[in-house]
Amino acid sequence: NHLADYLKQRIRTVPDWPIAGVNFRDVTTLFNDPEAFRVMIEAFSLDCTRLAVDVIAAIDARGFIIGGALAYQLHKPFALVRKKGKLPYRTVSEDYTLEYGSATIEINEDACAAGQRVLLVDDLIATGGTLLAAAKLFQKIGAEVAGVAAIIDLPELGGSAKLRDAKLPVHALCAFS
Ligand code: 5GP
Repeated sequence: NHLADYLKQRIRTVPDWPIAGVNFRDVTTLFNDPEAFRVMIEAFSLDCTRLAVDVIAAIDARGFIIGGALAYQLHKPFALVRKKGKLPYRTVSEDYTLEYGSATIEINEDACAAGQRVLLVDDLIATGGTLLAAAKLFQKIGAEVAGVAAIIDLPELGGSAKLRDAKLPVHALCAFS
């Protein structure tokens, strides 16, 4: 589709980063392009309206750039999903496994109210582990995860399929194979 092609042409691919054999999809080129940034935020806004979202939550750190702009655009509350140890107030946390090792993410226990519909935002879905852990955090505090949004899906890594299996609607603006 047109939007996907438009965005893909503007995403930089850095070969062999962070390790040999990986093509890193570098979205800083999208953030650096004001027109592309707006196109992206407009596309996410349509999803939010369709999903009747109450709260935008985004993943540390590139997710914040998208989620912050989206929350501002829609006049919705913004909640942060941070790496462990960064939030000063009472938190809930979730451990998840990475390709090598594990990680922990946290949200404030009052990140949103019980029953609110949350959209989770990040730049890219690889294995889906990060977004699945974030979804569990919001479910722990009684919220409903209305959906998951990302600029890029890497479908071959199975993350978006795993998220859909967990009954989370997934919307990615483009995909790389
Ligand atoms: P997952 O948990 O789905 O395996 O990994 C997704 C997380 O890793 C996201 O937070 C994303 O920022 C980061 N990530 C992994 N690979 C890439 C990549 O090629 N490009 C970008 N921009 N982020 C990546």
